[in-house]
Amino acid sequence: MYRVFFVVLLLIVSQTASLAVNAEEKSNKTIMVSLHPLALLVKSAWPEVNVVALMSPNQSPHDFSLKPSDIQRISDADGIVWSGKDFEPYLSDIVQGKSHLDLSTTLDFHHHDEHFHDHHDEESATVHDPHFWLNPLAIEPILNAIADRFQLSHGAQFRNQYQQWLAKARNTLADKADVGFVSFHDAFVDWNEYFELKQLEKVTINPEQPVGTRHILEVRKILASGEAACLFVEPQFKVRLVERLTQGLEVKQVNIDPIASEFQVKNANFLQYYDQLLDRFITCFNHN
Ligand SMILES: [Zn+2]
Repeated sequence: MYRVFFVVLLLIVSQTASLAVNAEEKSNKTIMVSLHPLALLVKSAWPEVNVVALMSPNQSPHDFSLKPSDIQRISDADGIVWSGKDFEPYLSDIVQGKSHLDLSTTLDFHHHDEHFHDHHDEESATVHDPHFWLNPLAIEPILNAIADRFQLSHGAQFRNQYQQWLAKARNTLADKADVGFVSFHDAFVDWNEYFELKQLEKVTINPEQPVGTRHILEVRKILASGEAACLFVEPQFKVRLVERLTQGLEVKQVNIDPIASEFQVKNANFLQYYDQLLDRFITCFNHN
């Protein structure tokens, strides 16, 4: 009897120990996300997971190359979320052999969703835009794909909060479809489409390339017409370019930060970042 009890006790102890090890393994899993705002999203959905961003908060994803220390950090991570070879060619070799998730294929898959078909006539319109995190319709598919690949929970709490945020934002931006504005670059295409906002023009497609004089004159014409409620100014904007665009014109400039550069991944506050964007649009649209 004594011996049986001892064996059972031993079993319980060893089982508990292995459960504890499993739990620890799980919480210590490090997932690297290449883009900073996407890392903020992943951390917000799963605060218990160790999430690191490859790029620093103020790094423009349009202009990035790997340093030796980045290569080390990638090899230390248990898994990596990236945007595919078209958007992040410098990662295509290094992710092989690692547990990785290519978001461009995920979103391509969801592209066959009817909603996308209604709004995009071009076959792969969705995957041509690397600003996944600014597409309100992409958030849930991204979370689904990450949960599947890295065997994470559903992230129900965040998803509920996100749906509430969406309802609030739709409500706040309702009836703004006629107010035009000019964006700095093409980051907000899906955002504008989802909320039915009227982007009259963008200053540039690639923020790393100089803007041609002819296009500057075109944008100035729009700004001079008074049709644009504001010009959105991003942190990557060169001061001289803003001057050339607005000199002599009465234009409201509104700062907007599509890459969440003031937010830290560890704070898990993606929805505060979305709130900040919403606030920027309201500031643009308000008469003052
Ligand atoms: Zn961009």
